[in-house]
Amino acid sequence: MKCLVTGAAGFIGFHLCKALLNRGAEVWGIDDFSSGKEERFHELSKDRSFHGLPGPLDAVSGLAEIIKQVALIYHLAAVVGVKRYVEDPVRVIETNVCQGAMLLRLAQLHRRKIVFTSTSEVYGKSSVLPFNESADRLYGSSLTSRWCYAISKSAAEHLCLGYAARGLPVVILRYFNVYGPHGDSSVYGGVANCFIKQALEGKPLTVHGDGRQTRCFTYIDDIVAGTIAAGEAPAAVGHIINLGTDKEISILDLARLIIRLSGSEGGLIFQPYEEFYGFSYEDVPRRVPDISAARRLLNYRPAVPLEEGLQRTLDWHRRKRAEVTNEKGRQS
Ligand code: UDP
Repeated sequence: MKCLVTGAAGFIGFHLCKALLNRGAEVWGIDDFSSGKEERFHELSKDRSFHGLPGPLDAVSGLAEIIKQVALIYHLAAVVGVKRYVEDPVRVIETNVCQGAMLLRLAQLHRRKIVFTSTSEVYGKSSVLPFNESADRLYGSSLTSRWCYAISKSAAEHLCLGYAARGLPVVILRYFNVYGPHGDSSVYGGVANCFIKQALEGKPLTVHGDGRQTRCFTYIDDIVAGTIAAGEAPAAVGHIINLGTDKEISILDLARLIIRLSGSEGGLIFQPYEEFYGFSYEDVPRRVPDISAARRLLNYRPAVPLEEGLQRTLDWHRRKRAEVTNEKGRQS
């Protein structure tokens, strides 16, 4: 199987490429390294079946030729991370909508199947739980830039469905709060990886607001398994599918759990939203997916419970930190 993965040096893209290569696929990976890491291309390139192409999608030469060669496209390249949406809506929309549109046009031209990765953000602040793929979306004002990400992915979903109506085989996946080894633990990353970093540094975990907002966290291996299945299962074509777990936890309880698992003595603090995101911010109070479509269409069974996934992620962060310390020791 030959595939193209956009966003191949990102957190999910990197894991996806590894899994595809392990299954014997030949993989072309594109990434502009805006948030993806170049060293991941070096790591992937140890397998001769990986071909890394640096650059934004619209600047990669010979993209049409690559698309002609592959059977399947996984489109993961996007501007992600809530703080980034708030800081740079122009880049969010230009990347997520315009580059997505260009890729879809090429996929249509060469009749290549595409798995388009969308997000649970698309549901916005709807309070009709669990979120079913056909449910209404509810967004706040345009003056609150947080919503530009949901709008950008929503627009891209409409494009996908438009092309699907013209005969293009498309699958749309909506990911729910993915975490795990290699996840971004900077201020632009997801909360689970950020909390783990804070805990290992002995710093207080920064719980935004009162911490009663909830999410359902999904371990990276479950996301990768669902994504590969979406590329392979004929029944998935033409569908929007939630990929996540339905185990809801508040951010405050997540912080307490990570403190317990890590043994951190730094405790936690409550941080006002405005202090972290600025004033143009509005949070999603609860987020829970209906995953029955994934079960039915992809035979998707999330296998890694939260505590185990956090433990694996903690272990990975600890190993990374030890490597960095050893490296510094060698250099001095
Ligand atoms: N959050 C937090 N502390 C942090 C980072 C995030 O309390 O250091 C909160 C954030 O305000 C939100 C939830 O954790 O309520 C999940 O945030 P994340 O950025 O992971 O993604 P989201 O689910 O909002 O897209």
